[in-house]
Amino acid sequence: MKGKIGIIGAGVAGLASAVRMAARGYSVDVFEKNEYPGGKLTAFQLGDFRFDAGPSLFTMPHYVDELTEVAGNPDLPPFTYQRLDTICHYFWEDGTRFPAFADPVRFSRVVHQELGVPPAEIFRALEESRRKYELTGRIFLEKSLHRAKTWLHPDVLRAIWQIPSLDIFQSMHTSNNRLFNHPKMVQLFDRYATYNGSDPYQAPGLLNIIPHFEYQFGAYFPTGGMHQITKHLVRLAKHLGVTFHFGQAVDRILIERGKVSGLQIGQDKVPYTAVISNMDIFFTYQRLLVDQPMPRKVKNQEKSTSALIFYWGVQQTFPELDVHNIFFSDHYQREFNNLRKGLVDDDPTVYINISSKLAPADAPSGAENWFVMINAPYAQGVDWDAAIPAARTKILRKLERILGQEIEPLISEETVLHPALIESRTASHLGALYGSSSNDRMAAFLRHPNRTRVFENLYFCGGSVHPGGGIPLCLLSARIVDEIMHSKRQVSL
Ligand code: FAD
Repeated sequence: MKGKIGIIGAGVAGLASAVRMAARGYSVDVFEKNEYPGGKLTAFQLGDFRFDAGPSLFTMPHYVDELTEVAGNPDLPPFTYQRLDTICHYFWEDGTRFPAFADPVRFSRVVHQELGVPPAEIFRALEESRRKYELTGRIFLEKSLHRAKTWLHPDVLRAIWQIPSLDIFQSMHTSNNRLFNHPKMVQLFDRYATYNGSDPYQAPGLLNIIPHFEYQFGAYFPTGGMHQITKHLVRLAKHLGVTFHFGQAVDRILIERGKVSGLQIGQDKVPYTAVISNMDIFFTYQRLLVDQPMPRKVKNQEKSTSALIFYWGVQQTFPELDVHNIFFSDHYQREFNNLRKGLVDDDPTVYINISSKLAPADAPSGAENWFVMINAPYAQGVDWDAAIPAARTKILRKLERILGQEIEPLISEETVLHPALIESRTASHLGALYGSSSNDRMAAFLRHPNRTRVFENLYFCGGSVHPGGGIPLCLLSARIVDEIMHSKRQVSL
């Protein structure tokens, strides 16, 4: 056995780190303050309905498959998933509605039919997205930005050469306005900013790489729901001998002479040769490294947006709805302006995810499990007791206008998740879904690295550090930690 590694938090990145470390032969302990694994990627039962509590859109499934391989393809229940033919159903107040097919040709045909947009515009936008991804994706997402080796790579020189065409100095919205003539297509492509909790009117046009993830790599649904990702990673980790300590919050990261020496859990001090924190970086500094000043950029960087989610058991099936559905605001820019001011707009964009469309066991026959989400400001200074019923009414009115029937009488089960609860359940600063926002064009460089130069053998993974939030990037953060830990420059453990 090599050294002993302590992991703080069993979010998706903590689990991925546990698999990677155990596969390398370390003895691994995972401490999780909750009684269950997964952090935001968890699930619950409400009456006869099953709900995935957080993420609903699954992209880049090969990052999960990669972990199965890292674990040696053990003989365990397989992790399977299906590719979606329709990425999302879009609805507007004026009656326009259409499915966004995963196949770009079918997608461009339906957009042409419904909006008169020439297919060439769609192909050009997707090609731009591909080009930006290929120039920058591997550098900004798959590598540590804090090692000289990354910057000496030929890909970086190529990207630097192309900077003027990467739309770093204009917003996503400006960039989409240049690509499309129709405002609904601009809005549809602007929406990708919300995939990492950003604002399309602020975030740089480079973020238009996001559609490439869906149109090139696809959108997927794990068999049995999103929570199967967590279950699979826990199974892999246990198979490799990882020990989980649920219901045990880490209280301190112990440091001796500039080196991590262990973790403090209650009164117990447990020695470790290295520690990986999957806890939000803000709280890692504030609560676990109390003698260490918090880096200014961790304190000051703008958070991503949060969300307000209603989980409804709905006693009817809706053939016009799919797994992913968006009901767009008629006042998209105002919606984002209000989020910045800490307000929920009067006409919020509503997202509905219905996993029972593909996993019928998630709802009783003749019913559906609706995960109804709107973007919400992060938790600071909002009176959620007042904001929740007001938002619920706005959502119901909007759905009733667009779907043409009353929804409220159909709701037989209900619970709600709001930013303050997200913060308390997963220790995510201000309930931000994706750590810090990408509104600043320097965001990638401002995000905390996956290690610190101040203390040896302390590493960070998860949505609040490089390369950012969302399941795929969290999985990449664990891969980057593994790489930097085992690069030649690192001391051996
Ligand atoms: P987290 O999930 O934040 O978990 C961290 C864990 O650490 C928690 O379990 C916490 O309890 C534990 N912890 C914290 N402090 C301590 C301590 N001191 N001791 C022990 N344990 C501790 N992403 C997508 O890819 N697609 C989506 O569709 C999507 N939609 C989302 C919708 C919602 C409502 C939410 C909330 C998130 C969504 N995301 C989505 C984002 C995605 O869920 C996150 O980026 C990702 O799950 C974060 O994982 P993480 O590894 O950073 O850990």
